[in-house]
Amino acid sequence: MQAKGVSKRYRQKKDRDTLAVNRVDLALKSGECLGIVGESGCGKSTLARMLVGMEKPTEGTVFFDGEALPKLLQKDRLALRRNCQMVFQNPFEIFDPLHTVGRILLSALKIHRIGRNREEREQICIQALEQMGVAPAEDFMERRPGQLSGGQLQRIAVARSILLSPKCLVADEAVSMLDVSVRAEIVNLLIELMKNQQAGLLFISHDIAITRYISHRIFVMYQGEFVESAPADQLISQPAHPYTQALIDSYSSIALNRESAPKTCFLSEGCAFASRCPKAEEQCRREKPPLVPSGLNRTLRCWKR
Ligand code: ADP
Ligand code: MG
Repeated sequence: MQAKGVSKRYRQKKDRDTLAVNRVDLALKSGECLGIVGESGCGKSTLARMLVGMEKPTEGTVFFDGEALPKLLQKDRLALRRNCQMVFQNPFEIFDPLHTVGRILLSALKIHRIGRNREEREQICIQALEQMGVAPAEDFMERRPGQLSGGQLQRIAVARSILLSPKCLVADEAVSMLDVSVRAEIVNLLIELMKNQQAGLLFISHDIAITRYISHRIFVMYQGEFVESAPADQLISQPAHPYTQALIDSYSSIALNRESAPKTCFLSEGCAFASRCPKAEEQCRREKPPLVPSGLNRTLRCWKR
């Protein structure tokens, strides 16, 4: 999965637009796990929706298997849906409360014409549930969403995705709403699944610690743009961007609280982070820094390197 210069501009009622995502480049290979971190409102979900073809970029192109998404969507929408799966934040919102788990899973298989008959499809569902640690799987097939906990529902959401053997999975705050005790379990299951299926995983979260745990490489997003990327361990042990440093050290002097986070994304002059940055100088407020290679395997958008 690849994004080239992808932007999303939302029209607002008044004179101002929101530039939710600004010229993002990204490439996800099979078997690889990339993390995206950043505060709420920085554009993570918008980027995710564009990557899986749920939303159209205003600029730039998303590619899957080397082919541009608009063309793929025209040619074989179903195949793209199958290959690029997304797991959402709120598992209580995504299922029809009247349907049983069995019906939910079976209909996904039917839509994508997987399995020769009902028996075979049921077998595939039970296997996926067991893989996700939902047991006894046969019992859960009869239950409805209202009878399940958030953790169980999210396991079923992931099971529904992996039923289809996707080539990539985009998990957008997929464990954020769950109890801390089940988060690690679900994350471990995701890691295992990606290994087994050699799929690519894009793990999106505002929680840098859990993202480090799962990702090979982390991209830090601020106001619709990447400001730094590095191998996960390096990013945490040697954060180069002042914003990354602030994210890691949540007690730092710039205290990244909601109040000080700019609400909308604008193409400001200079660095978007300058107003909150302890290191900002004249140049930072005047000129926007480009995202450039910085050391081995890293990129950085900062004048104060
Ligand atoms: P995140 O997932 O990082 O919290 P989002 O991608 O949800 O961020 O939002 C990024 C910005 O785009 C926010 O300012 C948000 O208000 C705006 N936004 C997101 N979706 C829409 C939409 N459908 N219409 C208008 N503005 C939107
Ligand atoms: Mg989001």
